[in-house]
Amino acid sequence: MIKIGVLALQGAVREHIRSLEACGVEAVVVKRKEELQDLDGLILPGGESTAMRRLIDKYDFMDALKEFAHSGKPMFGTCAGLILLAKQLVGYNEPHIGVMDIQVERNSFGRQVDSFEADLAIKDVAETFPAVFIRAPHIVEAGEDVEILCKHNDRIVAARDRQFLGCSFHPELTDDHRITAYFVEMVKEAKQKQLV
Ligand code: GLN
Repeated sequence: MIKIGVLALQGAVREHIRSLEACGVEAVVVKRKEELQDLDGLILPGGESTAMRRLIDKYDFMDALKEFAHSGKPMFGTCAGLILLAKQLVGYNEPHIGVMDIQVERNSFGRQVDSFEADLAIKDVAETFPAVFIRAPHIVEAGEDVEILCKHNDRIVAARDRQFLGCSFHPELTDDHRITAYFVEMVKEAKQKQLV
């Protein structure tokens, strides 16, 4: 059985759990770093990246998260989670986990449009996907080997870099589980490789 955790320090945790369960895998709420150990993949939810970072430090999670990332197990960051995964952040000297070869800008859709919905085409996932953006970041630049999965108004809003998947929006806030299912497939493939 595939087991996927959702980092549960802050943010939209329950919705990701529901989406993972809808995809038929075991979903685990992760509150302590020891709980990362027997997972096959991890979701970093949306919320507020600075608040999440504070809690990551408070509960001594950072080394364990980096280790998880470097072990080859897939990670999926949504919104604030995307910010945590990026190697570079506009206006900041240091990244957080810093494993996905992208540069991300926070709160980049402007104040007037704090939140909005758009039907987007996502490569390998859906021809139209109902994407919910809430004070969303976007990907300003992506490394050569990064696969761009989706753009909105010329801005990159979903991408994959090896075992890392990230999007600007909140797929878990809809009943459309196709991105979660795509991530579950990534996790299954990675697990298969590790068994070989
Ligand atoms: N604006 C938030 C941040 O910078 C992200 C918003 C979200 O996760 N919905 O962390």
